[in-house]
Amino acid sequence: MPRRMEDGLDALRERGEAFLVELSREYYEAHAGFKGEAQLQPIFARHARAFDDEALAQVQERFRDAAPGSEAHRSARMLLDWLVESRCGRELAALEEREIAWEASAVIRGNDGAEEPYQRASITIANTRDKKERQALDDARATLVAAELAPLKRERLEREHEVVASLGIADGYVATWEALSGFPIGPLRDACGQFLRDTQAMWDDVLPAFLKRGLKLTASEATRADALALMRAPEFDAAFPAVSMEYEVRWAVSEMGVSPDAHGRVIFDTGDRPGKRARAFCSPVRIPDEVYLVLRPHGGQNDWMTLMHELGHALHFANMERALPFEFRWLGDNSVTEGYAMLFDHRLKDRGWLARHSDLSKSDMPTYLRTAGFEELQFLRRYCAKLIYEVELHSGTTPWHALPDLYVETLTTATGFRYQAADAFLDVDPRFYAARYLRAWQLQALLNESLCERFNEDWWRNPHAGPWIEAELFGHGQRELATEQAARVTGRELSFAPLIRSIEGMLQ
Ligand SMILES: [Zn+2]
Repeated sequence: MPRRMEDGLDALRERGEAFLVELSREYYEAHAGFKGEAQLQPIFARHARAFDDEALAQVQERFRDAAPGSEAHRSARMLLDWLVESRCGRELAALEEREIAWEASAVIRGNDGAEEPYQRASITIANTRDKKERQALDDARATLVAAELAPLKRERLEREHEVVASLGIADGYVATWEALSGFPIGPLRDACGQFLRDTQAMWDDVLPAFLKRGLKLTASEATRADALALMRAPEFDAAFPAVSMEYEVRWAVSEMGVSPDAHGRVIFDTGDRPGKRARAFCSPVRIPDEVYLVLRPHGGQNDWMTLMHELGHALHFANMERALPFEFRWLGDNSVTEGYAMLFDHRLKDRGWLARHSDLSKSDMPTYLRTAGFEELQFLRRYCAKLIYEVELHSGTTPWHALPDLYVETLTTATGFRYQAADAFLDVDPRFYAARYLRAWQLQALLNESLCERFNEDWWRNPHAGPWIEAELFGHGQRELATEQAARVTGRELSFAPLIRSIEGMLQ
């Protein structure tokens, strides 16, 4: 490669990293309550060269010229993927700001005239035990959304398709996404369809009993609002206390031979301050040297699960090989980092781990695990259906006006809960993130099986397992696709088979 091009690549990387470091620090400080609002515009202005037209043209040229399968092609693909995402973000910023403003101020008026802020509606719906009241609130929400928010969301999706097409990378939105992500969506979509068929009998078997026990409902009357209420299941929260959460999680990680704070590179921000988000999150400000794990412990099974999930991300970032170029530390296939996060949070579905670290009693354990298996199957069936629907949405084969009916049919058939047509353009993960989650789910299940073979069922307390995870998984950053990583580490392909095995185990 000529020297001029190499200099160009290093400059692109330097500018990209400097931009992301500043952006991440701003998000961290805003979400952790150190400042009122993230001031993003000045950062975008200061770093405009990192993602301007010239940067995009330069990376697009590299991507075109590099031999498929080469490291140069891999690098260019990740950089281009990121620049396209930035470009869309910039072009759609005004539309997104309108949505955010609407969401912050919208108020739902229920049947009895009571006012409910839009942003609190899903929590209120999940916590409302009366079926009629719950449904009335969700219907009022759907009516308002259909009239005001759904048109904005649809406009943004249409505009995103136009922006992506105008770049001329490949023919259409789906083909462009495939070129930039490095994997085809069709086989995953087909596997989702197969998963739905393979687990249909299991789902038909468990859904009625859970509906009856949890909400005293029959399958024919169940809606998405009921699903929210059913999944809320607070009955085991006392077994996951706030006071011992951080201690238990740190101890668990130490037992596998991993430093819970990566020798100081992960900074646990546990202090209480106004404006700090309630939900735990991870902010990699400098990778691998400065990674924040922000939490405000309030206890309960979801809080423990979120902490484990975010710790999986944090330890991945903090243990990345520092010599890796910018794109292999900051960019790449997020199925990988989500897979590690899920490998950690799925300990909350692991009998041995739960017995050691939670306060679940021996008699509660079978019910807890069955509930966890039921929830896992519900979420997976929902995500499979979402991906099948989102492929239709992004491929342009179904006209826009027909998508809401398709959404309701696809999601309702898969989950057994009736969905609302108003949500067809809201319940869409940005840029096929549903595909990243689905592959992460597959990856964590495969890694768990592989870790059990190498280090026994309780690999999570084997002091040899952690160093292996750091060297073979975390250290590689996000250079590989999830499929490549699975092949290197386990010699196997990603599939839903290990997930089905683990759900069957929980539902026994
Ligand atoms: Zn995550």
